Amino acid sequence: MKTNQRYFLTITLIATLFSTQGFSWGWEAHKFINEHAVECLPPEMAFFKDHQVFLAEHAPDPDKTKNRPGYWHFIDIDNYPEYFAGTMPSELPKLLDLYDWKTVSGNGIVPWAIGYEMDSLMTLMADGNWDMAWQAAADLGHYVADSHQPLHLTANYNGQLTGQKGIHSRYETKMINPYLKGLNLPAGHAVYLENVNEVVFQYIHELYPQMNQILAADSIATKIDPAQDSTYYATMWSALDSMTIDALNRSILDLASIWYTTWVNAGCPYPPGVNSTEAVADDLTLKIKKTACLFMRPTVKVTYFLPADDAVSIGVYDTHGQLVRQLVNENDMAGVHTMRWKMGPQLVNSVHFIRLSSRSAELAVKLDGSR
Ligand SMILES: [Zn+2]
Repeated sequence: MKTNQRYFLTITLIATLFSTQGFSWGWEAHKFINEHAVECLPPEMAFFKDHQVFLAEHAPDPDKTKNRPGYWHFIDIDNYPEYFAGTMPSELPKLLDLYDWKTVSGNGIVPWAIGYEMDSLMTLMADGNWDMAWQAAADLGHYVADSHQPLHLTANYNGQLTGQKGIHSRYETKMINPYLKGLNLPAGHAVYLENVNEVVFQYIHELYPQMNQILAADSIATKIDPAQDSTYYATMWSALDSMTIDALNRSILDLASIWYTTWVNAGCPYPPGVNSTEAVADDLTLKIKKTACLFMRPTVKVTYFLPADDAVSIGVYDTHGQLVRQLVNENDMAGVHTMRWKMGPQLVNSVHFIRLSSRSAELAVKLDGSR
């Protein structure tokens, strides 16, 4: 009994701690968005699939760890008269010309938090720091999702200004959770975004008015079921289902595009073991790793290990065995050597081989020129 009581107290305490945050989609919706955004990525980012479970499980982390300020999760955009006048700057420095930091941070900065998270994810990927990159990608997903929740875009985020207290979690958790598993998923796929900040403000502009529909539905449903029991939630869902599914789907697609854009901006790097080919003979090793941005010619990184000083020739050969390009022809010392080479247009979308010849051995690896 005592243990049970303590258990109950702990649960209540935890529930109280977390219920006070109320600043994000429910955790299940966050997981849902991160999980399905992975499926909207282009084929060259298929390696995200290996981390799909991690990205989903860690989607709610920014609510739990609180390693970023609470004002990263929302923007009370209706506190800015400029928003309704159509003159609100979407760039943070320009907004800070109009308002001090205390005001701006007090109103929430989720549009720019997305930019901060993109920058750190880009740096981690470009530096090959993949252990930390997956957490940053999950965190980025969290803020993108938050900015698609209409109640994250208004000062009346919890209905506290209109006598509808508690609407935030009623809408984003209790109403949605039972339906998440069976929802239709978006049919589109990720696109590269030239200006993420502009895209973020565009969807905020389109999603913001939905908060009025949520509050209106809550008033009607509460009249029908003042205890806010099952009839309340059924009424809410039938009024808001298509709008809510649309917001979730937009969030999934926009997150896929934002992950994709970040990866391209990082130079399309791959984690270790992905998109690389290796050949080994005795102690001699030849390894190639290809980066493959859609808009650029693929770059090939050639790494070879010589067990002893040797004369080395490395060339690119076509499928008829013709030398297309000489990459290395020199005497090299024992150890690891690396060179990078940008594929010429004639090699793109065809198959070649990279062949290393030394006095002791000969090795070849296939070079698939598809992007
Ligand atoms: Zn949040």
